[in-house]
Amino acid sequence: MDMADSTGPWGSLKGVRPGKIVQRWMDQGKGPAQIEDELTQVYGMSRDKARLLLEVARRQRPWLLNREQADRLVSIYIGIPFCPSRCLYCSFPGYPLPARGSLVEDFVSALQREIETVGEGLGRRGMTVQTIYMGGGTPTSLNPEQLDRVLGGIVRHLRGPRTFEFTVEAGRPETLTGECLAVLRRAGVGRLTINPQTLNDHTLELIGRRHTAADTFAAFRRAREAGFTCINMDIIIGLPGETRADLDRTLAGVAELNPENLTVHTLALKRASRLKAEQQLWKLPDDGAAAESLAAASGFARGAGYLPYYLYRQRDILGGLENVGYTRPGFEGVYNIQMIEERQTVIGLGAGAGSKWLRPGGWWLVNSYNPKDPINYVSRIDELTRRQVDKLSGLG
Ligand code: SF4
Repeated sequence: MDMADSTGPWGSLKGVRPGKIVQRWMDQGKGPAQIEDELTQVYGMSRDKARLLLEVARRQRPWLLNREQADRLVSIYIGIPFCPSRCLYCSFPGYPLPARGSLVEDFVSALQREIETVGEGLGRRGMTVQTIYMGGGTPTSLNPEQLDRVLGGIVRHLRGPRTFEFTVEAGRPETLTGECLAVLRRAGVGRLTINPQTLNDHTLELIGRRHTAADTFAAFRRAREAGFTCINMDIIIGLPGETRADLDRTLAGVAELNPENLTVHTLALKRASRLKAEQQLWKLPDDGAAAESLAAASGFARGAGYLPYYLYRQRDILGGLENVGYTRPGFEGVYNIQMIEERQTVIGLGAGAGSKWLRPGGWWLVNSYNPKDPINYVSRIDELTRRQVDKLSGLG
């Protein structure tokens, strides 16, 4: 019996991390055919989604830590809560960059303290950092001097001999100046993510991003010239008013730029977003059109030689669909795998950052969160660093 039609493509599997159950079944020794049957028959998932999930899980397997490794290796997330402007669909802590005042400076100082405290705590426990991911917000909206200070702290206190991936999100291409790129290179950042979301100027204007498609092309080329050999691009399926021709234009631009990673998101109507509040004002695709667009993006990615390597879902995502990260072979963003599959402690520093603390002996996690609001983060930094020390002492 295949119940997929009555319950949507993911059937009754409601979680945002559907791959976790597949990893667990693989741990138990279940084979691909048995897993595919259970996903389709017990959970009512469509066969296409079951196969996609299995493919992704198999590709991730070599990156997952065993329990002993997980006691020694952590990943780090650093949240910079500022953006040049707010996107229509954003529910994230992307506070518009304050024009004046000391807030950004105070934030940078508080973050440096947190970085130092956590670095020392990890050192005392003999733990090392495997991957570092700086997101937000838009980290590259800090000025080059502030960015340099934060990256310097990361290099001194967190990066270690086993750190093999250091990603910085330059979500808004207009922030990626030559000076900014030089600072990133000097600090040893190896992976950049430059996020056009769409390469159609009329949509960019509608969704409140103050850059053009030409800015994305220019930023990408500057990054290549600066020596970046691993670049991710995020695009979003189902943006207001976008037609199939718009999507094709975006995909043609991606093909031209040829990034190592491509992340295909499906639009989600997040609770705290302006999009959700003004939903009736926007022309969004119906479920069938969203699914067709996602299938077209997937067909493009596979045709261009990308392979799916991580996958997650969000509440209120169009058509009950998913977000998929694609990679050229050998360029997997390992932080993304660790974050989604939850087999490693991920320590979140900065505003709006969440931490996942793996409990000794198993694969269960305790979550903690830093405040989203940078003012709140700065004023509570003493308490937050104490809590980080406390949580670190509970590891392993
Ligand atoms: S770039 Fe990201 S964090 Fe910033 S406003 Fe847009 S969606 Fe939010």
